[in-house]
Amino acid sequence: MSIKGRIHSIETFGTVDGPGIRYIVFTQGCPLRCKYCHNRDTWDTQGGKEYTTNELIDDVKKYIPFMKTSGGGLTVSGGEPTLQPEFLKRLLIEAKESGIHTAVDTSGFVDIEVIDPILDYTDLVLLDIKHIDRDSFKNLTGVYNDKTLNLAKHLEKRNIPVWIRYVLVPGVTDNKEDIKNLAKFLLTLGNVEKIEILPYHSMGKFKWKELGYDYPLKGIPDATDEDVEKASNIFKKYGVTIKERNF
Ligand code: SF4
Repeated sequence: MSIKGRIHSIETFGTVDGPGIRYIVFTQGCPLRCKYCHNRDTWDTQGGKEYTTNELIDDVKKYIPFMKTSGGGLTVSGGEPTLQPEFLKRLLIEAKESGIHTAVDTSGFVDIEVIDPILDYTDLVLLDIKHIDRDSFKNLTGVYNDKTLNLAKHLEKRNIPVWIRYVLVPGVTDNKEDIKNLAKFLLTLGNVEKIEILPYHSMGKFKWKELGYDYPLKGIPDATDEDVEKASNIFKKYGVTIKERNF
């Protein structure tokens, strides 16, 4: 049974969204409104192009040799992939049937009952925790962080491997107290394999302009190596080991 989904774009040789070389499907549509969104054109649920799961999996299979030698697989990212739950589940089922490692990259803004059946076919979750403070999360993304934190706890219960991502934005997400609180929360989770700091940069702002929107973080500087090191040291101080990489 093939299901149609709305897709923003595809990357056939991704190397940063999960282990090894990955085929990355960026789905169309996102319920968040992150001020630093570098894929502003993914928000509209009616945008992008329709693909069937069969079409995608036939294409993914061409890359199996690269995935096998590199320990890679398929990553479904966005936008927010869980906005199209039936499509996502079918895509992952078909990938698993072909022996392909699967990862889902999510903001966590999804109900547990919706994501639970999807998790049965998910080998790894890449979970963005955009802010640990509830109100600051809302200010940054337009929604509260309850669902994201609930999902983090649920993934632990199900013992599903997780990589946490944290976008470091000067003056917005680099507050010492917030990082300390995030570190404390992460220490309560036993299933986190990796924590990545993604230094904020404003390279996605041209997309906002192209679409005729004002960029909300105008004037906020990109995060420097120093900023990342500082944040990293706070995480480390509270017992959390960090991997730094480009956003
Ligand atoms: S969750 Fe991702 S795609 Fe959605 S608004 Fe935030 S940064 Fe953009």
